[in-house]
Amino acid sequence: MNIESKVSGHWTDEQLVGHLYGVGPGDGHLDACASCLARLSAMRSRREAVEKNSALAEDGDFEFLASQRRRIYRRISQPAPWWQVAQLKRWASAAAGLLVFAGGLLFIESHHHPQPPAPAISDAQLAQDVGRMAEDSEPPPTAPLQALFEE
Ligand SMILES: [Zn+2]
Repeated sequence: MNIESKVSGHWTDEQLVGHLYGVGPGDGHLDACASCLARLSAMRSRREAVEKNSALAEDGDFEFLASQRRRIYRRISQPAPWWQVAQLKRWASAAAGLLVFAGGLLFIESHHHPQPPAPAISDAQLAQDVGRMAEDSEPPPTAPLQALFEE
């Protein structure tokens, strides 16, 4: 802002900038004043130089960022592909299986006294153990869990 311009009737810098962007005063002063016209053309060439420089500097970065952003938006807007959903389901069922397995281990731990690790368990002994487990009338606690995942 310079008061001198206002007093002398010349356009202020703000008015010249406004004119560059098509919103300057429309009083026709530029047609009559070579001084203001010179200031305007200086401003215009300065603006063009700045725009060219920033365009050059941004060219690579901008293109890279824009493509990155496009990729992200595409990924967000797209529904999850079928293989991701399948993977999720597989993980869920694996986790459920792990839960059932852990429940079974817990059941065995709490209902059977841990036997000392027999270095060589005979087939007959194994059959006996399995038979005893089968005879156990109490349903295993994992039964309702398994029923949940049976469809
Ligand atoms: Zn002027």
